[in-house]
Amino acid sequence: MDKISKFISQNKKRWLLQLSEYLNIPSISAPGIFGNKDILEAANWLVGHFKKIGFKSKLIKTPYDPLVYAEYKNPENNFTLLIYCHTDVQPADPLELWNTPPFKTTIKNGKIFARGVSDSKGHLFAYIKGIESVLKTEGKLPVNIKFIIDCDEEANELSLPWFLNKNSKKLKANAVLVSAGAMVTKNTPSICHGYRGLLATEIKIKTLKQNLHSGSFGGAVLNSAEHLSKLIAQFRDKNGRILIPGFYENVLSVRKSKKVYAGVHCGKKDFLKITGAKNSVCEKNFSLDECLAGRPTFEVNGIKSGSADGVFQYIIPAQASAKISLRLVPDQKPDDIFEKLKKFVQKITSKEARIEIKKIDWARPILISKKSNFAKILEESLEEIFNKKAVWYREGGAVPIIYNLQRISKEVFMVGFGLPDDNIHAPNEKLNAADFYKEIKFSSILIKRLGGTKLN
Ligand SMILES: [Zn+2]
Repeated sequence: MDKISKFISQNKKRWLLQLSEYLNIPSISAPGIFGNKDILEAANWLVGHFKKIGFKSKLIKTPYDPLVYAEYKNPENNFTLLIYCHTDVQPADPLELWNTPPFKTTIKNGKIFARGVSDSKGHLFAYIKGIESVLKTEGKLPVNIKFIIDCDEEANELSLPWFLNKNSKKLKANAVLVSAGAMVTKNTPSICHGYRGLLATEIKIKTLKQNLHSGSFGGAVLNSAEHLSKLIAQFRDKNGRILIPGFYENVLSVRKSKKVYAGVHCGKKDFLKITGAKNSVCEKNFSLDECLAGRPTFEVNGIKSGSADGVFQYIIPAQASAKISLRLVPDQKPDDIFEKLKKFVQKITSKEARIEIKKIDWARPILISKKSNFAKILEESLEEIFNKKAVWYREGGAVPIIYNLQRISKEVFMVGFGLPDDNIHAPNEKLNAADFYKEIKFSSILIKRLGGTKLN
């Protein structure tokens, strides 16, 4: 057994106790509330811990919650890895559904139960311990390491963007790792490198001054609900293809990346079980994973009109509206798609209707190259731990923190050690102890390999 592995196995039990102490601090964040004493306690606990293992560390004050910053400098190497994580957790409600107290860490059948253990305190702590293992056994780290730890990721997400606007240079790094996320399935080393973008819109149709009696006026005026339904029905053909002219112009082929894995990666049988759907309705000629993360979508999120709720009213509704969102993929641009959508809707709207189309929200799609030296080292380090090749996967949704982290480095990767059944944001959150130890080992191997490769 090598020195680092020996150090890890000698300290395993002690670290589990330290992790329990950290998890027992109920660092719950809440919308609009800052400076909660438990959040500060968890932040200060981390600062103290970083100092103990040989890092420089401090709290960075912001108008919101603070950020925890820690760094280790190696003057002989100019490569810097930044590790991002968060120390706040979701509320534990409903408490009655927990089998063990959420803020009294319990280890049972090889599983660590506590609120925040998989989202994401356990992962952060594993990285700290993996890096400590290299530092203690070798006397130094081969590269520069920075940690930036959020205290309001679960609620407000304001501190890090505020700090980046003020002082992004302090966080300058060659690559960023997000110590969170999950493996696509058990024992499958997984690296996330893609996120779909978003365009959220509202379409409002107005055909009359006010609602009219459907007996007196029915048959002679345009019904807004019916017209909106007809508009919506023209967005996709029977093969699931979106019919907005020019919509696919900038879509990169998913086939070029060999196989696409989605964050929600499961076989057809499990997919039907999870969703309760009678069947999947994927775009023709594309796999389930491709449709879940590699292809653009069109979804109606809600429709409002007439007497849909409450009592039956015999009316012709004067107006109807729909909230519609589209998930975008590289290289589609939200602004360009919005213009194309507007043109399309205006063209298919009856001249008897007034129409209003609003952009509600947007996010650009992200796809990070897997061809860099750093990406290769990530793959090799995972392969050493799992004895199998890592899969690269894409998230179907946008993850706002990734956009902020890309201001530090374009290379932002999330390596998952959690599992889809870890119950994050739900009662009985857990992390498998074996995966926690694997994550420690992985981060030690990664740091060693980073030191042994020419990266810049
Ligand atoms: Zn979360």
